[in-house]
Amino acid sequence: MISQDEIEAIKHGVELVSFMKARGVELKQVGENYRGFCPFHEDTTPSLTVNPKENLWNCFGCGTGGDVIRFVELIHGVDFKEAVRRLAERPPSEVRSQRTEDRKAAVKEKKERAQRGRQKAAGSGEQNSEDRGQKSEKTG
Ligand SMILES: [Zn+2]
Repeated sequence: MISQDEIEAIKHGVELVSFMKARGVELKQVGENYRGFCPFHEDTTPSLTVNPKENLWNCFGCGTGGDVIRFVELIHGVDFKEAVRRLAERPPSEVRSQRTEDRKAAVKEKKERAQRGRQKAAGSGEQNSEDRGQKSEKTG
């Protein structure tokens, strides 16, 4: 059984824009969204919109739309369960690189903290009046 949590994780764990591109949907960035030709009807104007923030897509030409699971259902002609199964087994290249982002952020924070520490050490004063009463640690 697939839990709702897992489904949510799948929905948000796939970068919909690159996922669709990898399946032959040409998408162009328009503002915050992406536009492209809908693969589900004979589209003469790009009526497919992808919202990368929400990880949702919809087509105002034929009225289809939804999340990445819905896209897999339609493009591969499979049912919901099969779509979820396929997405759960998706290649790692299509998994959001959240971990890398986290690591980058952590490194950045570390650097900033180090810098701040140095600045504090370099500054001579204890001009922080807020700090005063609380500072009870011995210096030296
Ligand atoms: Zn359409």
